[in-house]
Amino acid sequence: MATYIVLLGPPGVGKGTQAVILAQAIKLAHISSGDLFRGNIKNQTELGKLAKSYMDKGELVPDDVTIAMVRDRISQPDCKGGAILDGFPRTPKQAESLEKMLAEFGGCVDSVPYITADEAVLIERTSGRWSCRAQGHVYHQKFNPPKQAGVCDVDGSELYQRDDDKVETVTNRIHVYFEQTMPLVDYYRKLGKLIEINGVQPVEQVTNDLLAALRK
Ligand code: ADP
Ligand code: AMP
Repeated sequence: MATYIVLLGPPGVGKGTQAVILAQAIKLAHISSGDLFRGNIKNQTELGKLAKSYMDKGELVPDDVTIAMVRDRISQPDCKGGAILDGFPRTPKQAESLEKMLAEFGGCVDSVPYITADEAVLIERTSGRWSCRAQGHVYHQKFNPPKQAGVCDVDGSELYQRDDDKVETVTNRIHVYFEQTMPLVDYYRKLGKLIEINGVQPVEQVTNDLLAALRK
């Protein structure tokens, strides 16, 4: 049966970083809703234009279009064995829709690692984040610098700083997270699926904790 893992946690806590490592380690597809939106913006689609108007302000993109986009991605053949969901769901409505769509594929959310860090750490991480233009590989100028400044180690593409990583926008994203996404912590805790992971540790240690928790 397919395995679906939801990575929950505030912006900048390290979900994307860990999702890439876990996807390789446990051979699951990686679905990042933020990357899907950024792909649409890059390709100048109608969805991209709509998403950008919300992302620039640090607000959530409306549920209906977000759910439809993830549904389309999760139905692709490479997700047959399951997926690591990074950045989705972010609202109770998205969580309910996810259960329904996974039930159609004969699966469910198996576990929900909840990675935590305080606001000062989130600001420091997002303000030093550099992302690659081609595939969204993520670096940090202090904690995980690329070998050559401004160039992605993996695919050689240019690194850029996300517009929504400006301190004002991140502060709003954290506020939006507490208002709209925090209810999911209780939702998944009540379902017995939540696993708390301390995100204020080196990347390798967070990965070890995640792998140990997922093995249980
Ligand atoms: P998220 O997907 O949750 O927004 P990212 O994985 O993009 O977060 O990480 C945000 C920033 O923090 C990136 O610059 C990344 O390199 C860095 N980072 C991720 N995990 C750690 C960690 N454990 N320690 C220090 N920096 C980290
Ligand atoms: P992320 O790459 O996860 O940091 O997301 C960047 C931005 O994309 C967020 O601030 C939102 O504007 C938008 N976004 C990503 N995922 C979702 C989601 N599940 N629901 C609504 N908006 C989202």
